[in-house]
Amino acid sequence: MGKVKILKCVSCGMEYEPETLDYVCPLCGNIKGTMDVLYDYESIKRVFTKGELKKSKEYSHWRYLPILPCESEFVPSLVVGFTPMYKSERLNRYLGVKELYIKDDGRNPSGSLKDRASTVGVAKALEKGKKIITAASTGNAAASLANICATVGLDCRIFVPASAPAPKIAQLLVFGAKVYAVNGNYDQAFDLCLVATEKLGWYSRNTGFNPYLGEGKKTVVLEIMEQLDWRVPDRIFVSVGDGCIISSVYKGLYDLIQLEWIDKFPRIFGVQAEGSAPLYKAWREGKSLCEPMVPNTFADSISVGIPRDQVKALRAVRKTNGEYVAVSDDAIREAIKLLARYGGVFGEPAGVACFAGYLQLLESQSIDKEERVVVIITGNGLKDPQGATSGVSERVINIDPNFESLEKVL
Ligand SMILES: *Cc1c(COP(=O)(O)O)cnc(C)c1O
Ligand SMILES: [Zn+2]
Repeated sequence: MGKVKILKCVSCGMEYEPETLDYVCPLCGNIKGTMDVLYDYESIKRVFTKGELKKSKEYSHWRYLPILPCESEFVPSLVVGFTPMYKSERLNRYLGVKELYIKDDGRNPSGSLKDRASTVGVAKALEKGKKIITAASTGNAAASLANICATVGLDCRIFVPASAPAPKIAQLLVFGAKVYAVNGNYDQAFDLCLVATEKLGWYSRNTGFNPYLGEGKKTVVLEIMEQLDWRVPDRIFVSVGDGCIISSVYKGLYDLIQLEWIDKFPRIFGVQAEGSAPLYKAWREGKSLCEPMVPNTFADSISVGIPRDQVKALRAVRKTNGEYVAVSDDAIREAIKLLARYGGVFGEPAGVACFAGYLQLLESQSIDKEERVVVIITGNGLKDPQGATSGVSERVINIDPNFESLEKVL
């Protein structure tokens, strides 16, 4: 038996042996029937200690392997995770706050946090002897999967909305994935991918469907806590589309509490774009499920109308006394500039939405300036340069190749 003890349905609580199930709870189905991956924490606690971790020379997210659902012989070798977290003095001073930390997860191999999940998805595919892995994606999950697959030679089939930004499609093609650009939005691409999974027997890396992906994503918060020397922050801000990252942040903290490495949750804040905010609405209205909507935001990675991990995503905020926040596209544009110009971190629109949410709460004075806050920048700005520069009014200055020409415009 592996390290995973049971898969537990987040809605009905039914428990399954990990060998008996690949995806969602058969009783509850897609969306409602997402699974929690639970471990034998008592056994893990005996061998995995803070002291052991401190000695580890594994400078990647595999340093947390004892609390991940993978066996070492199947883990891809690409270095994922171990990304920097900054307490930027200049940004803190500008905002007049004491302890704001920026976790720069755009520094992963494919440029987004998704790599943390793809490695686990690929390891699981290899362990299960699957030959083809598939994913639907707004772009980053796919680019990430293609990247990781290239390191192990796994056949990778991708469904993306035809509108995905060109740099993300470029990554897919360069890494050698087979790409199906769907004439429709992400939600439609997702549904088609599920049909292909079922009819063709491909292994699905889909978010909110494959229970192991969140286990990979939770390493971001394990790292944050290690970087903070296990001092629990007051708040963590996360951008939210499908709700898998925010659920994983909750799950990572849950695991740390089970291991007794920390003794409480920080408050978790989920930030959505106003034009794509079904979780924000469900949370405000006290609902247990989201009303589907047609998403409309330039932050493509969180342009999601049917959040696939919604049950867990609502739990993450409700159980930690957090909140959902909705921000305008213009607020995201401003936040991108502010983060880049005062913190030196260039994030893609979805990656910086959480920072825009933080700024919104800071302005409305609902955050105390003394609080310890972590903002997770989930994707690199080079993923969508057009989106990133859409809020920048400065233009390049065209000159001829001589000094007089330069002098004229100084
Ligand atoms: C996928 C993604 C998100 C949202 O994650 P969900 O799990 O879909 O909520 C946010 N930012 C970036 C850059 C992403 O790629
Ligand atoms: Zn169930």
